[in-house]
Amino acid sequence: MSTLMTEPAAGRFGDFGGRFVPESLVPACDALAAAFREAWADPAFRAELDELLVVYAGRPTPLTPARNLSADLGIELLLKREDLAHTGSHKINNVLGQALLARRMGKGRLIAETGAGQHGVATATAAALLGLEATVYMGERDIERQQLNVLRMTTLGAEVVPVGSGSRTLKDATNEAMRAWVSDVDRAHFLLGSVGGPHPYPWMVRELQRVIGVEARRQSRTVPDVVVACVGGGSNSAGTFAGFADTSARLVGVEAAGGAAMTNGSPGVVHGARSMVLQDADGQVAEAESVAAGLDYPGIGPEHAHLGAIGRAEYHTVKDDEVVEAVRRLARSEGIICALESAHAVAWVLRAAGTPELPTGSRVVLTLSGRGDKDMATLLGGAS
Ligand SMILES: *Cc1c(COP(=O)(O)O)cnc(C)c1O
Repeated sequence: MSTLMTEPAAGRFGDFGGRFVPESLVPACDALAAAFREAWADPAFRAELDELLVVYAGRPTPLTPARNLSADLGIELLLKREDLAHTGSHKINNVLGQALLARRMGKGRLIAETGAGQHGVATATAAALLGLEATVYMGERDIERQQLNVLRMTTLGAEVVPVGSGSRTLKDATNEAMRAWVSDVDRAHFLLGSVGGPHPYPWMVRELQRVIGVEARRQSRTVPDVVVACVGGGSNSAGTFAGFADTSARLVGVEAAGGAAMTNGSPGVVHGARSMVLQDADGQVAEAESVAAGLDYPGIGPEHAHLGAIGRAEYHTVKDDEVVEAVRRLARSEGIICALESAHAVAWVLRAAGTPELPTGSRVVLTLSGRGDKDMATLLGGAS
């Protein structure tokens, strides 16, 4: 049975997960796990989060039939519209939960990493709402290609710290954010943006994103044949999959060809968890390379590594040019400009529809993880 339903014992998902952190972070991880376990079982905490998700974040997001594309492709395609959530992506679901938890734990400061900037924007937003400080670490390369989101974060009152090491992208920003947490561990909560990292993050973030799958399941009425979502660290897909774990639906994750930890990686440790990781012959974490800053990451959450290993979920890759084409095709056929990240899922559907991978007549629920405003400059400049 899939672990998607339960808290993983010792933070382990089969051979993956766990907690590989410096000694100094072990008590903080333990305290966080205990606090989340208690909060998640507390109806008052759940009610406060649910209320915020409705009156602030705009949930439930709709499930939109993509009528024109469905007719063209010979399938029934339903889009779970996380692009319509406040701040423009699914990140807000996780961030509101963790920010409430940080406040409950008496922490006055949020530290976050960001790639495309969506997680940084969501964190800055929740910090403003709840009266917390926010420091966001972001690779210099991502700062260049996601200037709109940098402006949003500073407008919201967050401090954005440029990271110039390594590939100057998400992996390096995550390293720096974890370092910053170590040096301010009593006062700060590390608000991790995806289902990676040491226990309890993969479990906690999946639970906070479960709302996507639960809503989509209810809205789709009958069980779809296929549930598909893009995979960076794996949070929008994990939250979506969790709503369908106990059904017969195929679960499909789509990675960037240049950041395909499931397809091209091997078991290793990155950012505190054992998972599938892109690495070189010496076991050094390799650089990822994708047009979508949010998928430019060499690892994947440990639960995905497990779901892949046991065959409950399948993982495919698409290339940058297919992704750019998928943004255009969805925009012109449905009037929806999605994020480059989300377009990975769309690109797989475009390629697979009508083939044995996705036969004609299939009913497909696709999570559109975010909106594409932030990517207009990248699209104008051609794939970078
Ligand atoms: C951050 C982000 C992603 C990738 O993160 P996951 O944890 O894999 O969901 C995908 N889409 C959008 C719009 C994002 O902002």
